[in-house]
Amino acid sequence: MMPLLSLAGVSRVYARGSRPVHALDDVTLHIECGEFVSVTGPSGSGKSTLLHVLALLDTPTAGRYELAGADVARLADTERARLRNRRIGLVFQSFQLVSHLTVVENVELPLVYRGVESRARRASACAALERVGLAARLSHLPDELSGGEQQRAAIARAVVAEPDVLLADEPTGNLDAAATQTILEIFENVHRTGTTVVVVTHNPRVAASARRRYEMRCGTLRPVAAAQDGA
Ligand code: ADP
Repeated sequence: MMPLLSLAGVSRVYARGSRPVHALDDVTLHIECGEFVSVTGPSGSGKSTLLHVLALLDTPTAGRYELAGADVARLADTERARLRNRRIGLVFQSFQLVSHLTVVENVELPLVYRGVESRARRASACAALERVGLAARLSHLPDELSGGEQQRAAIARAVVAEPDVLLADEPTGNLDAAATQTILEIFENVHRTGTTVVVVTHNPRVAASARRRYEMRCGTLRPVAAAQDGA
């Protein structure tokens, strides 16, 4: 089967003064449709860079990136944005909801970009918010919600357009243990409905919830052996 996400020999070098930083160093990673993958590792090891490359927010310096079989490593910005909107849902540590829009309006945004008409948009956004337990918060502004609720709204926004893959960068970094548990359960649900999930995290509990686990060290990626499960 063709992988959904396929990195082959991918490097990302930042030119910083006379000492280049190898944020990604010859990373090869193949993720099939429907997988649940986590990437952990110390701060500065390249996790966010990896996620940004997968999300088409950053461009590899070397190597190949294929998304659903298409070479996407060096596309023009408009084409990357179009593909991202069609195939990728993104969740960040800082939620990144639009502060002057209500919760339901935030969740509608990916559908606005797709040109979905307003009633269908509202119906899909309400259904997505119901899935994350926020049906009672539709017309609240983001800062009227707790951190955990804001992240649930951000997940609803990420999945409302039924992306192939949900990519999350440190999604529980600002949350307490109870809210983290709720987010993990939502990821499980998203995964169960067939969406591929990739989570980058410091949190061992979040990492352990994935079926396939990787660790980054100094820009290189290695699988976490089964013997280390439960760590
Ligand atoms: P992590 O997410 O694991 O904390 P990052 O992917 O953010 O790691 O960073 C990996 C390395 O790349 C770090 O050494 C970081 O300082 C460097 N880096 C990240 N972004 C930039 C940038 N825009 N310019 C220069 N160096 C960067």
